[in-house]
Amino acid sequence: MSDRYRTLREFKEPFMEIECSTCDRKGRYKVSRLIEKWGGDMPIHSFIASLGMTCPRYVRGHARERCGIGCQQLIYMFQGAPFSEEYRQQQIEGGEKN
Ligand SMILES: [Zn+2]
Repeated sequence: MSDRYRTLREFKEPFMEIECSTCDRKGRYKVSRLIEKWGGDMPIHSFIASLGMTCPRYVRGHARERCGIGCQQLIYMFQGAPFSEEYRQQQIEGGEKN
């Protein structure tokens, strides 16, 4: 159960707030609309990845400059979800400044 990707249907708030820490982009999406469009079984990370594809830093760039697109709500909502693990890694990497 814990290694399964969370889907849009499981998102527990009416709006999903997506932001990118490196490109200053922000978006707010109505979850019921997303489910209408993509279906409730769409994994949340797949949706975020589809947004990331429009960011030039998402596909190329060094680890430190890579697109930081993500949804902070997921961290509180699903502890241990794959995406929050990735986010945590980014925070650790970002904190190392030599
Ligand atoms: Zn970005």
